[in-house]
Amino acid sequence: MAEIQLYRSKIIPVWCPGCGDFGVLNGIQKAIASLDIKSKDVLIVSGIGCSSNLPHYVNTYGFHSIHGRSIPVATGAKLANKDLSVIAVGGDGDGYGIGLGHLVHGMRRNLNLTYIVMNNGVYGLTTGQASPTSDLDLSTKSTPTGVIENPINPIPLAIISGATFVARAFSGDTNHMSELVANGITHNGFSMIDVFSPCVTYNKINTYDWYRNKVYKLEDDYDPTNLESAIKKSYEYEDRIPTGLIYKADKPTYEEQDSVLNQAALIKQDAIKLNDQSLDEFR
Ligand code: SF4
Repeated sequence: MAEIQLYRSKIIPVWCPGCGDFGVLNGIQKAIASLDIKSKDVLIVSGIGCSSNLPHYVNTYGFHSIHGRSIPVATGAKLANKDLSVIAVGGDGDGYGIGLGHLVHGMRRNLNLTYIVMNNGVYGLTTGQASPTSDLDLSTKSTPTGVIENPINPIPLAIISGATFVARAFSGDTNHMSELVANGITHNGFSMIDVFSPCVTYNKINTYDWYRNKVYKLEDDYDPTNLESAIKKSYEYEDRIPTGLIYKADKPTYEEQDSVLNQAALIKQDAIKLNDQSLDEFR
């Protein structure tokens, strides 16, 4: 295990004191340190939102992209260099709102990526509007009389879309979260980890205490490879909410099925070295 300090950048997070994203940041750094992956072998890609500032705070490669586009950028990086550990991060607005189409297609391809969503049920950066995961009746700036749209449940969505590692965590339990992230990184395929990460400034309902009263860890005898029970578990949200690895499957990745990518990382193959002759064909 490497020292966690190796993965801390010199940039001080701008998040509000107490924001759940601090726990997620710590969990990600711990996970990378526990796997002893060198900083140069990790890329963290984000979209837009409070949580999407995260790549600045980790001492690895980082790419702060545009709203909802972390998955396409992460996909491109992974296809160019499959030897990189590529982690996409962002919030529920970024991933389940504007980026939802990209997410579904990333999952159905079973790309070997890890996607971590800091889910707080509001748009924090734009000062507290309802997001795709806002609970029904939640009063926000954009829904003063309460949300009337059904919230997205990302866990069954990920399972039926083709993700092969689907987990839920709570930023108030960093150790558990970092274990899940480490397992997600080493999983061969698309891992989606939805992390409850309270917005202490704009969501006064889904607070740390609200989650602490509801979340529980999946039992030791729970079998995440059983699709039927995983779907059933993924709908538990009212009184108790399960955290842990909810679904896992062993399926070929996109990269393994591609005849060029399965040989070696694209950047290491001679075939992509453009020379004057090949360029001439396009002139
Ligand atoms: Fe975190 Fe909410 Fe503050 Fe954004 S507004 S930094 S999500 S607490």
